Amino acid sequence: MKIKSILSIIVFYVSVLCSANALELPTESIVPGGIAIISIHTKERPKAYFHARRVMVIGSSANWKAIVGIPLTEKIGTQILVVKINNVKTNYKFEIRNKEYETQHLIIKNKRKVNPNKQDMSRIITERKIISKAKLHWRDNENISLQFIKPVVGPYSSPFGLKRFFNKQPRKPHSGLDIAVPKGTPIAAAASGIVINIGDYFFNGNTVFIDHGQGLITMYCHMEYIGISEGSKVKAGDVIGKVGLTGRVTGAHLHWSVILNNTTVDPLLFLAKD
Ligand SMILES: [Zn+2]
Repeated sequence: MKIKSILSIIVFYVSVLCSANALELPTESIVPGGIAIISIHTKERPKAYFHARRVMVIGSSANWKAIVGIPLTEKIGTQILVVKINNVKTNYKFEIRNKEYETQHLIIKNKRKVNPNKQDMSRIITERKIISKAKLHWRDNENISLQFIKPVVGPYSSPFGLKRFFNKQPRKPHSGLDIAVPKGTPIAAAASGIVINIGDYFFNGNTVFIDHGQGLITMYCHMEYIGISEGSKVKAGDVIGKVGLTGRVTGAHLHWSVILNNTTVDPLLFLAKD
């Protein structure tokens, strides 16, 4: 009995030590659409900003790390992270390298989804405001998982960052990762968080936004069915709905986006390498 309790105490302290030492970080990739991880050596908790947007800071005293989402449209070269401690500003410089993303041509049969009519446009403008608000959401949270699980398991049919042409017309680059799985496949929450928005949108179809804290948000699109309500708390792996073909799609798949400081970044950076 005694040995058992001593052993359980040892196991407890070892696990506490391990979790305290191991900061779970995403893969760093300092390119447009990637992530820069910048160490900040101050005792007090700093606040960090990139292009005037608040940036996630994790860690503890003297070992802080800013996790910076880099827009796909970002210029190559030197960029600045502004760090504020007690209203004193310090600039942290970092270098953004080039990355060439591939080009893809898609034929969309529903022409209205490529060139929306007047009525569609007013719907799109209304929805854009709701979607922008969800992407800007900030919630203080010290307990963020930066290692995600795959929401569905299947082949990647369209990578993040693809330069896309719909019916030969250039459109914005692909802002997420497409995973091709059959209609009806259950979709899991990539990490724990709070559902901040659900909706049926013109391009994205049935969509769920999960807030993981400090500007880290995941978005799940084209769902057949949403099985969760706004305000619900989810754990990693909880089923939030099913894969479908709603919105602008060419076939059943999950479009999965990861947003950091209001910027879509490559979701693969949050997954363990296969
Ligand atoms: Zn997609």
